[in-house]
Amino acid sequence: MRVDPECPFAKLTTLRLGGPARHLVEAGSADEVVEAVTAVPVGEPLFVFGGGSNLLVADAGFDGTAIRVVSQGVGRRDLTDETVALEVAAGEPWDAFVADCVLHGLAGIEALSGIPGTVGAAPIQNIGAYGQAAGEHVLELAVLDRRTGRRERLGAADCDFGYRDSRLKRETGRYVVLSVTFVLPRAPRSAPVRHRELATELGIELGQRAPAMAVREAVLRIRARKGMVLDAADHDTWSAGSFFINPILPPDAYEALQAQARELTGAAAPAYPEAAGGSKVPAAWLIEHAGFAKGYPLAARPQAGIAISTKHPLALTNRGHGTSAELIELAREIAAGVQRSFGVSLRPEPQLLGLRWDG
Ligand SMILES: Cc1cc2nc3c(=O)[nH]c(=O)nc-3n(C[C@H](O)[C@H](O)[C@H](O)COP(=O)(O)OP(=O)(O)OC[C@H]3O[C@@H](n4cnc5c(N)ncnc54)[C@H](O)[C@@H]3O)c2cc1C
Repeated sequence: MRVDPECPFAKLTTLRLGGPARHLVEAGSADEVVEAVTAVPVGEPLFVFGGGSNLLVADAGFDGTAIRVVSQGVGRRDLTDETVALEVAAGEPWDAFVADCVLHGLAGIEALSGIPGTVGAAPIQNIGAYGQAAGEHVLELAVLDRRTGRRERLGAADCDFGYRDSRLKRETGRYVVLSVTFVLPRAPRSAPVRHRELATELGIELGQRAPAMAVREAVLRIRARKGMVLDAADHDTWSAGSFFINPILPPDAYEALQAQARELTGAAAPAYPEAAGGSKVPAAWLIEHAGFAKGYPLAARPQAGIAISTKHPLALTNRGHGTSAELIELAREIAAGVQRSFGVSLRPEPQLLGLRWDG
């Protein structure tokens, strides 16, 4: 276990923003994570994190103990002739795990290629992209329940996965993920492709399969075009991915939005029905049609420290000299603009530490 009191979150997050924690501990195994968590007295501020890719920390830092999970290891068990269970340590890098599965003929998560961060964080917001979500393949999680102080196993049903959501996210801080067990089918071809842009990139019809490696490569190409693959040399990737969650609107709010959209733009907003009810509206469309173009506000202020990515309207990016305060200010300006234009409230996707969202 390594302790570093000086290191600011700016060195530990993909936004490269944020001051230091009062105590920073790096835990390299499940036992070390449990030891570090239980060493913090109940009632004292504690924050557990991984790759820092869904995190915005205040410039003043975090006045508490931050535990960075860097545990490694994958245990593999054949369940049937067709399926394999993989128990993956929470600190394993997510994309390396996906690459390994694709390489070894295990299908189902290939569309989640290129998402930064750790395996332990994947179930927190049930990471998803291009028609797949991590929660679909979770068998169980090994967790430390901070309420009871005991190690437990949570089945997928206990996690109550939803769109960018889970019980773990709703009960913030209660569960520390130690490992995640996935069940994946042995199949050299991908799961049926459910995302139109990905199907087009692959030159196949929606619902068809393709070699899993081809799907991974296609996803990485699409993501790179949008600045959604980390690249230290490209400020468009100094982000936390999508900053806003796509809102899911109940029928009355949806009708009101469409009336507003037709009046403002002459056309309806794109929307997708959700299985659990309501219509999902792309936050990117709302933002652009509320007047915030890619790159905003760089055209007017080339020296701005924080700006919308020049490649993707949903990513707020650090241009190399930004601050968390500036980022929150821009996020609030965008959310207020969308509220004014369309009456829709946007919510941030990343976890905010030491910052309040009242946009
Ligand atoms: C360029 C880019 C592209 C992205 N694309 C996508 C995408 O396509 N789809 C998507 O869903 N997300 C995307 N993200 C967001 C992010 O990568 C994911 O949410 C990822 O799962 C975060 O992992 P992390 O280890 O970096 O978590 P962190 O940022 O370190 O933490 C995020 C949250 O998880 C909690 N957490 C982390 N580890 C643990 C643990 N072991 N136990 C308990 N809680 C924990 C933290 O407390 C925090 O609340 C993107 C981010 C970037 C920068």
